[in-house]
This record gives sequence, C-alpha cells and structure tokens, in this order.
Amino acid sequence: MSVASRAPDYIRAISPYQPGKPIGELAREMGLSEAGIVKLASNENPLGMSAAAREAAVAALGDIERYPDGNGYDLKAALSKKFGVALDTLVLGNGSNDVLELAARAFLAPGRSAVFAQHAFAVYPLATNAAGGRCIEVPARHFGHDLNAMAAAIEEDTRIVFIANPNNPTGTLLSGAAIEAFLASVPSDVLVVLDEAYTEYLAPEQRYDSIAWLPRFPNLLVSRTFSKAYGLAGLRIGYGIGHPDVVDLMNRVRQPFNVSSIALAAATAALGDTEFLARSADINARGMAQITAALAELGLEWIPSAGNFVTFKVGDAAGINMALLRQGVIVRPIAGYGMPAWLRVTIGLPEENARFIDALKNALK
Ligand SMILES: *Cc1c(COP(=O)(O)O)cnc(C)c1O
Repeated sequence: MSVASRAPDYIRAISPYQPGKPIGELAREMGLSEAGIVKLASNENPLGMSAAAREAAVAALGDIERYPDGNGYDLKAALSKKFGVALDTLVLGNGSNDVLELAARAFLAPGRSAVFAQHAFAVYPLATNAAGGRCIEVPARHFGHDLNAMAAAIEEDTRIVFIANPNNPTGTLLSGAAIEAFLASVPSDVLVVLDEAYTEYLAPEQRYDSIAWLPRFPNLLVSRTFSKAYGLAGLRIGYGIGHPDVVDLMNRVRQPFNVSSIALAAATAALGDTEFLARSADINARGMAQITAALAELGLEWIPSAGNFVTFKVGDAAGINMALLRQGVIVRPIAGYGMPAWLRVTIGLPEENARFIDALKNALK
C-alpha cells in the first residue's frame, strides 16, 4: 500500500485548480520575450496598485524580521471605520480564497454538504472537497445563479451555500433584492457565503449594501478581496464580515499568522486610496466597452459582465486559445468550468485590449 493511497478518498478525488498561464512560462514555451506578452488571464488590475499601498509595503519591509500582528488590528480598524462594523465581525485571509476555505473548514466535514451554482467559482468545490464535504451543484440559469433552485437544493446536511456576485467566470450579477429575498428564504442555520470579489467594479445602479443585512441575517458571511480592484493579488489578502460567533469559529481554524505584515500594511493604505479605486473602475468600464464592441463586430456571443473580465464564445476554444498564445496573448480557457466553447478575457489597458483584439481577429481567420 503506497503512502499516497492512504490519504482520504475525498482528498485523492480533488482535481487541482488550473491557474492562468504565467508570463514566464509562455515565454519559455514559445521562445517569446516576456516584455511582448500580454496577460489577460487572471482578472488582475492593469493599473498595478495604488502608490500609497506600494509605499506602505516598502516601509513594512523594515520590520520584516518580526511576525505580523496575528490579529491584523490596524487593517481591521480601517475596515471597521469604512463599513461601520464592529472589529469582532471581521476575519482576515491570505486572499479571500483563504476566507472561503476558513468557512468550509469551520462548517463542513464528511457527512455535510455545500450548495453552489454550475459555472461558479472553482474554489467552492475545492474548499468543500478538501473539508470532506459533498458538493451540490445547481444548474445555472442564463449562465448565472438560479437562486430559487439553489434554495430548493438545500438538504438536511447542507451547512454552506456559496454565492459569487458577480460570478467568475461568467460575470453574471444578481440584484441586491434577489439576494436579500434568498437570505430570507434559506434556513437560518445554513451559512450563506456571499463572495463579492468584484464588488468595487459595480456601476452605481448595480450596487447594493450587503453589509447592512448582517444584523438581520447572522448566517450571512460577506467575503471581499484586495486582489482585484485594489491590485494586490500577489500579496494575498482578503477579508470576511459576519456574525461574531461565525467569525470566532473561522479565527480558531485559521493559521495564527495567515496574513503577512506587508499585505496588512499595503491593504490598510490601499483602503484609503479611493481615487485609485475610482480610476480602476473607470479604466475597466472603458476597456469593457472597447472589447465588447470588438466582439460584436466579430459576430461573437458574450455574456454581459459586471466584473473586470468578459466571457465570449468561439467554438473551438482550445484552438483559438493556442492561436492567441502563439501571438503572446494569454486569456483563460474555461473548459474546467463546463464551458469548453468559451474563453474569458480580463479587461486590460487600452493598448493591451487592442493587442488582444488584433490577436483574436488573426486567430479567427
Ligand atoms: C479572484 C476571486 C476570488 C479571490 O481571490 P483572492 O485573490 O484569493 O482574494 C474570490 N472569488 C472570486 C469569484 C474570484 O474571482
């Protein structure tokens, strides 16, 4: 009997996450120079990060021999002030991916299940499986979450429902009213994890205030990240806001120092730079218009997106993807999400978007 065969079956059954191809890897494979490669594959911020965040990160290097504040006081104080929530409603994660996993670890186990939508973010099945939980995947409606079907899919042993809003990779958005009605309809002992990784990109008319629902719904956990609009993906930092009892359990299962001192410092500074955030949303809106106009011109179907990416249909996505890679353009194939005919492209700078559009036109010839 091999040692690997002794791991639990539910661990051995996990299919690994497929990340966007790193620039260095494509450069090696195709013999291209890294400088000429455009990566629009991981929903990263094309503006980089806020100058204030960079300054804070560099300053934090001066104390790098020290362990970080395991409680993340300064960042929690800044979040508490920004959102008007108590400190004990906040949990910090090594990326919001960590927040999702802490929720899974605290509430799931063999004999329990989690509900999420078809085509929803890949980390939900990963975190569920790693905790030994059972996945209940609910068919999508127009590529988005079917909340009525999701409520109906909740079973006796269900402990978590994951909702991504907007969803990645489809970009679909639920209204605040629809989510609020869903919360009112689910059993109060089922945790609803509302993953709002792209919420900072929402247009004013799309916005809703999930944090204001927390006093009414102690089973709600709102998850957010500094990886997307704040441009700190490489630092790995996100946060959850929920009932103090839920947050307390998540804090018990997290690593004592799960967030680095550099990430804490940069995120605290980033939170205060609202001008950078506005600029990120603005360049995204303009890039979205640029890319969707080109998709329309090419006669391609796409899914209207509320995020910083758009998913479009090409048919032979693997072939088109390869043709894009040969031209030094990295997008994301999403066959793993059950969408083998589609590709997802992240909105970049105007010139990056133009490179993508040219490469796509070539690839389709
Ligand atoms: C990118 C993303 C996240 C989290 O990313 P982190 O870098 O771990 O914060 C979470 N949910 C969705 C839907 C995402 O697309």
